[in-house]
Order: sequence, then C-alpha cells, then structure tokens
Amino acid sequence: MAHPLDLPGWRHVYSGKVRDLYVPADAQEPGGAERMLVVASDRVSAFDHVLEPGIPGKGVLLTTLSLWWFDRLAGGDGGRGIPNHLAASAILTDGPDGVPGTADDLRALIPAEVAGRAMVVRNLEMLPVECVVRGYLTGSGWAEYQAQGTVCGIPLPEGLGDGDRLPEPLFTPAYKAPMGEHDENISFEQTVELVGAERAAQLRDLSLEIYARAARTAEAHGLILADTKFEFGLDDAGVLTLADEVLTSDSSRYWDAEAWHSGTTPAERMASFDKQIVRNWLAANWDKTGTPPALPADIVAQTADRYRELLERLTAP
Ligand code: ATP
Ligand code: MG
Repeated sequence: MAHPLDLPGWRHVYSGKVRDLYVPADAQEPGGAERMLVVASDRVSAFDHVLEPGIPGKGVLLTTLSLWWFDRLAGGDGGRGIPNHLAASAILTDGPDGVPGTADDLRALIPAEVAGRAMVVRNLEMLPVECVVRGYLTGSGWAEYQAQGTVCGIPLPEGLGDGDRLPEPLFTPAYKAPMGEHDENISFEQTVELVGAERAAQLRDLSLEIYARAARTAEAHGLILADTKFEFGLDDAGVLTLADEVLTSDSSRYWDAEAWHSGTTPAERMASFDKQIVRNWLAANWDKTGTPPALPADIVAQTADRYRELLERLTAP
C-alpha cells in the first residue's frame, strides 16, 4: 500500500483501502483527538483488493461529492437538517459553481498537498454498523435472492430480476468488522443486539429517510440511486451524526435512469457511474486468486470519466 503522506500539522493514524486518517500533530492521545483529517486517495478497490493504478482525480471527486451531499442533507434540499461530522462551518457554500467548499478557518488546516480531497471532521464514537439501504436488487442482494429468495433475510416476491426495483427500499445492515476483516451482512435483530433496540430503529429510520431524499435528488438529475451505505457516530453530546463519506460513487451504486428504463439486458440497464466498470473488468480478467492484474489504461480512463460525469450531472442546476 502506498506510503501515507507526511502532512504538516497532522499525524497519520490509519489507512483504509481508500482513505488515510490523521489527527492533529499535538494531540496527546490520538484516539481521543477532537478533530481528524480524512484524506481520500485516488486508490480504487474491488473485491477487497486495492488495485493498480489509481484513478486520477478520484480522491477530489469523492470528497467534492461528499461535501455536496452533506450540504444538501443539512437542509440544502429543503428537507430537515441531518447532523453531520464536518467540523463546524465546513459546509458553507463557498466553493466554485455552488459546490460547497470548506470554510476559510478550516481550509487553513488542510495541507496544500491534499487540498480538495481532505475533510476536517469531528472525531466521533462510531457505531459498528454499516447502514446499507437498497432500492434496487443487484450485487450481493441479487446473489442472496437467487439462492434463497431473500435479501439479508427479508423475504421478497418471486420473479424479480437483476437490477429490478424493490417493492420498497430496504434497510440491510452489515456489521462493520474491525480493521482488515470482512464486513458481514446482519439481520435487524442482530443490529438490535449490537446497539440496542432504540438506536437500531433510529439508524434504520434515518438511513431510509436519507436514502429517499437522495434518491429523489438523483432522479431529478436523470440518475437512479440503486443502493448506498451510511456510517453514523455519536458526538460528545450523544447526538447521532452522519459520518464517513456519503453518497459517493464508492459507497453507492448510481445508474443512468434513461438506460435503466430503455435497456433490456442487465448490462444495459445498469449503466453505472461507480466502480462497476472496474468490478466487471476484474471479474472477466481475474480468477480472484493471488494479486489482481493491473487495470488497463482505457478502464482507468472510462472510470475517471464516469466519476466526473456523475458529479457534473448531480450538481447541474
Ligand atoms: P476499508 O475501506 O479499507 O474497508 P475502512 O472503512 O476502515 O476500511 P476507510 O473508509 O478508508 O477505511 O477509512 C475511514 C475510517 O474512518 C472508517 O473506519 C470510518 O468508520 C472512520 N470514520 C469516518 N468518519 C469518522 C468520524 N467522524 N469519526 C471517527 N471515525 C470516522
Ligand atoms: Mg470505509
């Protein structure tokens, strides 16, 4: 894995497959730091492997998308404000073309080498649940449905196909496994065991609400938000707070609405703006043992183009 950058004023504490986390260099105890710097790299992962090469500009695009969605969900879409983890005042709409940027006081904390792909966030107590919402059937949901007619144990009507719209959006949580382990789909009852009944219901309701709002926004821009994943944490006052990245093309599946309506094959219907291009190429060119092959230049370029197009479409007036 690429060596994390040395950033002035910050100390590196963790690298996931895609993002690098830092705490203030003067923090006494890294785990207890009040703020963190989340830096999105250009790395791309599929089937739990980080691939070579990266996708140029991906870190900036993902960060811009997250900031844009945090702003919409804070009330910019006319809905009620959903608390998020951005450090205070980070969501002022001061970026170019109405895309939210980072307020001046916080921008000063972001080192030049990661400008545009870093967020200053409040360090929350994260809940160990990945809050997945599916509005459409595909991926691991489709696999489970084919095998046993359910998605995360929830029974579904017969006769659904890959890419079909579900009768209603489903909350299908996963247990967020500790570093390096695989996340695992869990039932709602298991979510209750992990975080308690009241919190589990709150996570479900909030996740479904955010999905519905985001799907509506996407639809208005000719996009289908097929599924997505949220992570929540608790702030110092115990407020349930939307954290991590949100509604990005790494955490979500976005499809072209027109293609979905007119297409006949799954590939035509699920013309995607996310890393499905990478997944498809890898599935066709690798047996999933050993080190994955390097991505060819045209797959890298296509993926970069689709990521950019997603941002352009969403943020178009
Ligand atoms: P991988 O993506 O490789 O499976 P990962 O999800 O742990 O692992 P990243 O997504 O790159 O790695 O890193 C982001 C990490 O930061 C996640 O563990 C996420 O839960 C955590 N995180 C996100 N927002 C906050 C926050 N506000 N406070 C504390 N932790 C956060
Ligand atoms: Mg993650």
